[in-house]
Order: sequence, then structure tokens, then C-alpha cells
Amino acid sequence: MIPKFFLTIASRLTLWYAGIFTISSGVVFVLFYFLASGMIQHQIDQDLLEKSNYFSTIIQRNGLAGARRFAVLEAQAAGEKMIFFRMLFPNGEVYASSHMSYWKNVSVSKTALDNLLQYKRHVFETINIGPAKLKARILYSFIAPDVVLQTGLAMQASARFLSAFQKVFTGAMAFVVLFSALAGWFMARKALSGVETIRRTAENITGLNLEARVPESGNQDEFDSLAHTFNQMLDRIEILVKSIREMSDNIAHDLKSPITRIRGFAEITLVHKQDMNEYRSMAASTIEEADRLLDMINSMLVISRADSGASDFIFEQVNLSSMIADACELFLPLAEDNGIAFKFDVAQDIVVHGDRRMLQRAFSNLVDNAIKFTPEGGQILIRLDVEADGYVHIRVEDNGMGIEEMDLDKIFERFYRADPSRTRTGSGLGLSLAKTIVKEHSGQIKVTSSKGNGSVFLITLPYGNLEVI
Ligand code: ADP
Repeated sequence: MIPKFFLTIASRLTLWYAGIFTISSGVVFVLFYFLASGMIQHQIDQDLLEKSNYFSTIIQRNGLAGARRFAVLEAQAAGEKMIFFRMLFPNGEVYASSHMSYWKNVSVSKTALDNLLQYKRHVFETINIGPAKLKARILYSFIAPDVVLQTGLAMQASARFLSAFQKVFTGAMAFVVLFSALAGWFMARKALSGVETIRRTAENITGLNLEARVPESGNQDEFDSLAHTFNQMLDRIEILVKSIREMSDNIAHDLKSPITRIRGFAEITLVHKQDMNEYRSMAASTIEEADRLLDMINSMLVISRADSGASDFIFEQVNLSSMIADACELFLPLAEDNGIAFKFDVAQDIVVHGDRRMLQRAFSNLVDNAIKFTPEGGQILIRLDVEADGYVHIRVEDNGMGIEEMDLDKIFERFYRADPSRTRTGSGLGLSLAKTIVKEHSGQIKVTSSKGNGSVFLITLPYGNLEVI
């Protein structure tokens, strides 16, 4: 199980930051170490070569005996623990040397001597002397045709440098790790503070409180745009939740009325013990109310299924002309009963691709509304034709009470009824259902109306140029 702390992005960023910082500092330190120790070794090699050259000069001037004396004196002057000189014959036999008690463990390297003889070029070696990891640099070189000088220099400077470097390295690396972890943690926390604000806002949002918003810094960085998008999403959710609340209030209200009425019929009939005819009329009223309820529930189902992209429309070739003419024939007596002149002008043989039942419902809703909202003496005009724009136009025009301008946008919303007194029957779902149906047929529904001057509802549907069945 990984502790929860290590699962946070801040801790992982800190680890990454500290890791990268530490590794790169380590690499820099190591490079620096090799560079510095290389330079020290180069300096030692130069010193050794200089000494060797000096021996060559002395041999030329003072012969081997001179060189022998010089070896002893030079080693004493520099410090016998610091340097030694050993003159050898090419077979490795020692001819003379400085005082060697400190260097007694240093032997003559056969390999180095062979290399020197073979390539006639000086040879360097680094060897360990003593327990304290002290090293010495050894040079084998010819100082006369048959005389080899083996000279060694204790690498004390190198050792001092190494130990000082180790101390500095340990201290510096401890600081780097600590500093980079702290800096990484601080930066990660700072960078992620926006996420934390969004998380806290999201935590405060409940079904009751949708008003919380993430403060936007306005500096247009990634967090600002995330906060902006998050706030926009919250705006949309707030509107959605409000509309769902309103809708459920409406549904509750609209379902309550018919049920209350049904209950009222039943109660009156029961209490007043009326005759058989009254029971029949109660049953008829109950059926009527139940049908209205069913119609409402069906409309809600059609709308919400279409909204969720799961509508179950059955598309086929529909002869719109005969469908509308038949519906008009049915509405005609109802309009006449209400003292409304009802005219229809239906072009022949217009066939569209659609769901017959649904198109019928959409059209009926418009005509039903026209009759409902047109007073006695008014007139209704229905027209079906294919217009110059290539679309089928279904026009339902009345000269009834009309609609206030401010209501025009809202009448297509679910449960919206512009009639404030709600004296007429209706659920406020008719136009919403009509709009859904028309949309499912890739068409449009529009209204033009003004209060007191009647209304024109226009459905346009794509005309498929289908042949008449
Ligand atoms: P309902 O008719 O059940 O109330 P609708 O969705 O069909 O619901 O209509 C919504 C509202 O639009 C109606 O309540 C009414 O106020 C208004 N409306 C619809 N058609 C007309 C019309 N032809 N004339 C005037 N008002 C209308």
C-alpha cells in the first residue's frame, strides 16, 4: 500500500523536482571533481618530468656520481616522505637512490620498465602507498642512454583536495536535496493551489447551494481558464437544476388537478347516492380526465425521449395532404360549434418522410390551440403547400386573442401557458411536443403573433420529392 501522501501530484512533483535537481547537481560535482583532479595530476606529472630533465642535465655535467648525490640532496630538500629518486639499469637493477625508508614498499614495476624500453617514452604510474589511501605518482624515464630514473611524488595535494571535496560534496548535496525538495514542494503547492480552490468550491456545492463559484484571477493562465470553464459548467448546471425543479413542480401541479377532479366526481357520486345515469356520467368524466392524464404523460415521454436522443419515431412515407385534409374534416364541426369560420387550403399529393402519428399530433395541437384561443366569430385558416424555398409549409392562422411579445419565446417551453388565468384546459405541453416532433423531422416551427390580432404558426419540413404511394 502506497501512503496517500505519495499519491498526490504535489508530492510526486516534489520528488521529481528534488530528483532532477539532485542528479544534475551530482553530475556537475562529479565533472568538477574529475576536471580538478585531472589538473592536479597534470601538474604533478609536469613536476616529475622537470625533475627527470634536471637529472639528465646533471648526468651530462657531473656524471652518474653527481646524479647520485643530487638524488639524496634533492629528496632531503623536498622532504623524503614527499619524493624519492631511484636510478636503475635497464634490467631493473638499482644503481642508486635517495633515502627510501618511507618508500620501501615501492618496487620497480616490470611492466612500466618494459614499456619504457619498448617505446622509449616515459611511463607514468599511480600507486597506493600506505594505509590512508595516499597515492603516489611514479615516473619512469631515461636520464642517460642506459640509466632509468624512477621517481615518485606523494599525491598529497590530491589527497587533500579529495578529502576537502568529499566534505564539501556531502554538505552541498545534503543542502541541494533539502533545498530542492522544499522548493519543489513550495512550487508544486503554488502551482496546484488553483486546483485546490476548485476542489473546495466543488465540495461546497450541494443540491441546495449552487451559487458558489471559483474566483477567477483574470491572468488568463491555465487555472484561470479552468476556473472559467468550471464556472460556466456550474451556470449551466444551475439553470438545469432550476428548470428541473420548476418542471417537477409543474408536473406535480398538473397531475394533481385531474386527479383531484376524478376524486371529486367519485366523492360526489358516492355521497349523493345518485341513479345509474349519474354513475355513467361520473365514469365518462373519469375516463376523460384519465385520457387527459395519459395524454400528458405520453407527451412528456415523447419529449424527454427525444431530448435524450432515444425517440422511437417510426419513419415512413406520409401523404401529408390527405393526413391534414382528414384532420381538418374532423376539426371543422368543433370549430363551427364554437362559432369559428374554419377554412383549409391543402395542396394535393405532398408526401414527406416522417412519423404519421407524431405529425398528426403536432398538427392537431396547433389547430386545437387555434380553436381554443379564438373567440366566437373569429376565423381559422389552414394552408399546406410546398413553397419556393423547397420546404413543405404547414400554416395555421387564426385571428384570435394572440400572444404577448414577451411570451413568444416561452410558449414552446414545457408547461408554459401564457394564459395567466388558466381558464382554458391545457397542460402547456402541446407546443413543446409539436416543437420536439418537428425537430425530429429536421424541420422548424415558428410563430408570429401580437396580442389581440391573432397568431400564425408555421411548420416547415424538408420536402423529399417522394413519389405518391
Ligand atoms: P396548452 O395549449 O396546453 O396551454 P401549449 O403548449 O399548446 O399549451 O401552448 C402554450 C401556450 O401558448 C398556451 O397556453 C397559450 O397561452 C399560448 N398559445 C398557443 N397557441 C395559441 C394561439 N393560437 N393563440 C393564442 N395563444 C396561443
